Amino acid sequence: MIEELVHVLQVAMPIPLPQLFDYLPPEGVAISQALIGCRVVAPFGRRQLVGVVAGVGVASPDLRMKRVEAILDATAVFTREQWESLGWASRYYHYPLGEVLAAAMPGALRRGKNLPESRRWRWELTPLGRSRLGSFRPGTRTHLVAHSLAEGDSSAASRDLLSTTSSRPTLRALERKGLISRTLFAEPSAVSSIVGARSYDLNEAQSSAIRQISASLGRFSVTLLDGITGSGKTEVYLGAIEACLARGKQALVLVPEIGLTPQALRRYGERLPVAVHAVHSGLGDTERARAWAAMASGERCVLIGTRSAVFAPLDHAGLIVVDEEHDASYKQQEGFRYHARDFALVRAKALGVAAVLGSATPSLETIRQALKGRYTTMRLPSRAGSAQPPTVHVVDIRKKALHDGLSSAMLETIGECLRQGNQAMVFRNRRGYAPVVMCHDCGWSARCERCDSPMTQHGTAGLLCHHCAARKRVPKACPACGGLALLPLGAGTERLASGLAAVFPDARVVRVDKDTTQSRGALDQHLAALGDEPGIVVGTQLLAKGHDLPLLTLVAIASIDEGLFSADFRASERLAQMLVQVSGRAGRSIRPGQVWLQTHHPDHPLLQTLLGGGYNEFAKQELAVRDEAGFPPFAHLALLRAEATEHSALFDFLGAAQQAALASQGVELSPPLSAPMPLRDGKHRGQMLLTARQRPRLQAALEDLVPVLRAMPTGRKVRWSMDVDPIDLY
Ligand code: ADP
Ligand code: ZN
Ligand code: ZN
Repeated sequence: MIEELVHVLQVAMPIPLPQLFDYLPPEGVAISQALIGCRVVAPFGRRQLVGVVAGVGVASPDLRMKRVEAILDATAVFTREQWESLGWASRYYHYPLGEVLAAAMPGALRRGKNLPESRRWRWELTPLGRSRLGSFRPGTRTHLVAHSLAEGDSSAASRDLLSTTSSRPTLRALERKGLISRTLFAEPSAVSSIVGARSYDLNEAQSSAIRQISASLGRFSVTLLDGITGSGKTEVYLGAIEACLARGKQALVLVPEIGLTPQALRRYGERLPVAVHAVHSGLGDTERARAWAAMASGERCVLIGTRSAVFAPLDHAGLIVVDEEHDASYKQQEGFRYHARDFALVRAKALGVAAVLGSATPSLETIRQALKGRYTTMRLPSRAGSAQPPTVHVVDIRKKALHDGLSSAMLETIGECLRQGNQAMVFRNRRGYAPVVMCHDCGWSARCERCDSPMTQHGTAGLLCHHCAARKRVPKACPACGGLALLPLGAGTERLASGLAAVFPDARVVRVDKDTTQSRGALDQHLAALGDEPGIVVGTQLLAKGHDLPLLTLVAIASIDEGLFSADFRASERLAQMLVQVSGRAGRSIRPGQVWLQTHHPDHPLLQTLLGGGYNEFAKQELAVRDEAGFPPFAHLALLRAEATEHSALFDFLGAAQQAALASQGVELSPPLSAPMPLRDGKHRGQMLLTARQRPRLQAALEDLVPVLRAMPTGRKVRWSMDVDPIDLY
C-alpha cells in the first residue's frame, strides 16, 4: 500500500538546532512557494514560537506532526537578497538558520508583531473598482471594505477594518479581480527642517574621494577611505551619500557601538535632505521596526546604525558605508558570531552596490585587500581645515614615582595645559580604583576564586571581579598573614580622577567609563559638563571616538603597558589602533595638540615603529609578522571554544573534537588547550584552533566537523561554540 504524502511547511525555529521542522499548514491554507520567508506561530515543545518558513515539501503523514497555528505574513518579511545573504551567513558561520533569521529581524517581527502600520502597503480602489462600487451587495464584507476604501482610510475604524486578518481574504479577492491594488504608503518622515550647509570648502583630497566613490555607484566596488584622524572622513561619506540619494537610492551607514553619538547623528540629520533613521542598542522596538520598514518601503532615506543595522532590507540602497571599519564592535562576540563589516561586503556584492570602508587605522585584513588591488584606496593625508597632527612625547617612568598613577612630568604638563585655558584627556583602559590589592607584608593579593584572577578595587572598600561581577569587601587584615598593610596597586580611571581632582582643585574633572555611563546619554552629559572651561576628562576606550572637544589640546596616556605583552595575535594591531585613535583626539580644531605617553617600555618596537613611521609603517611590519606566523589575513581561523564545570568533561570533549577533525585536509589543528583565561565564573575553559591557508578548506572542514560536534555525547556536559574568523583568541 502506498502511503499518501502530505504537504508540509519546513520551518526555521529560533532555537540552537540546525534542522528545519515540518509542520502542517493551518486548516484550509494551501501550501505554496510564496510562503517562504513568511513568519509563522507554531507549537514547539510546550511553547509557542515565532519561526520562519524556509521551505515547503512533502512528508509521510505522522500523527505527531503539529500544525502551524497561524501564518503571520501575507508576503515574505525578507527580500530575496536578504534571504540569500542570511542563508549564506548561516552556512558560513555554521549557525542555525532559525537563529540567524531571528537575529536579523527587529524585535517586533521576532516577537510576532507587525511592522509599524504607517509604512506598510496601502490598498486603493482601481478605476475599475471605483466604477463597480454600486454593484457590491450591502451588508457583505466586500461592500464594507470597498466603501471604506472609497472614503479613504483616514478614520480609525476603517483602518482597523482594513488591517484585521479576517479582511485579508476579501482584500486578496478584490485584488485578484483588479478592483483594488496596493501602493506604497510612505508616511511623511521626520525630515530635519534645517538642512545646513557646510561652512567650509572641501579640500582636494576630500573632493577626489567623493568623485571616486560617486563614480563607482551602481556596481559592486569597495573603496578604502584611509584618512588620518580629523581628516574629514565624515564629509566624504556625506558627499557620497548625497550622490547616492540623487540617484534615487538609499544609503546604509554602519558605525561602531561608541560612534553613534547624538552629535554624530545630528551631523547627518542636519546635512541630508531626507529622513535619517538611527538604529542602535539603546533604541526601542518600534523605532527599529520603523527603520526596517522605511528601508523596505524604498523611500529615499538613510539608515545609520551599529552592528545589527547590517541586516536591514537593502533592495533600494545604492551605497554602504562602514565607518571605523577596524572597530572590534562590528564582530558579534556571542551567539551568532557574525562580522558586520564582512557581511556588509557580502551584501554589497550581492546587491551590486558600492561600499566604503573608512578608518584612520584600517584592519590588516582590509589593508591586505587594498594592497592586492581588490579595493581602491583613497587617502586623506592631512587634517581638515587648519588643524595640525599632534606632537607625541614618550615619558620613561622606570624608577620614577607615580602619584595616583601619574608621573610628576605628566602632572606638570597637565597643569600647563589647564593654565593656558585648555582641556586635557587622561586615558587609561582600566576602570575602577586599582587593578590589584596586595599585602605589602607577605605578597597575598585579592583574587576571585571563580575566575582565578585579581579583583579590582572600586571605591575605598569594594572589590569587584571584572569577569564574573563577583563582589567582596576589602578585608581589614591580610587573610594570609594578618598584616594590616593592604595596598592598592596600580591605578584605574577612578584613582586617576580622584588624584587629579586633589592636585587640581580648581579644575573640573569628569570621568567617562563603564561605571559612569550606565544611563543613556550619560557620556554626552559628562562631556557637556566640561563646557568651555579648563578641565580634565579621565576615561577608557569609550573616549577614543566620536566627540570633538575643541578645547582639548592634551592627551595623556597613563599606561598601556599590559597591552605590549599580550599573547593574542591581534594584540599589537589593537594597541596600535587604540594609541593612534586616542592620540587623534588632541588638537582637532585650531589649538595645536600634544600626546604624552608614559611607559616602562619606551624602547618597545611597537612604540618605536608607531612613532617613527606611523600606523602605515606599523601595518607593513605587522603584516610581515602575520605572514611569517601563518595568521590572518594570510590564513583563516576558526576557534572552537568550550567551557564546563568539570575539567575532565571539558577535555574529553575537546579531545573527541580533535579526533573528529583530524581527517580534515589542508587544515592545521592546534591541540586542545586551556583558554588564556582557564577559569571564568567557576567554569573551566578550553579551546582548539583550526587554521587553513585556504578559506574553502576551512569551510569544508567545518561542514564536516560541526554536525559531528553537535552529535557528540561528550558535548552534553559542555557549552561550546564555533567562532569563524575570531577576532581574538580569548
Ligand atoms: P574624521 O572622521 O576623519 O576624524 P571628521 O569628519 O570628524 O574627521 O572631521 C573633523 C573636523 O573637521 C570636523 O569638525 C569637521 O567639521 C571638520 N572639517 C571636515 N572637512 C573640513 C574642511 N574641508 N575644512 C574645514 N574643516 C573641515
Ligand atoms: Zn599578608
Ligand atoms: Zn570572577
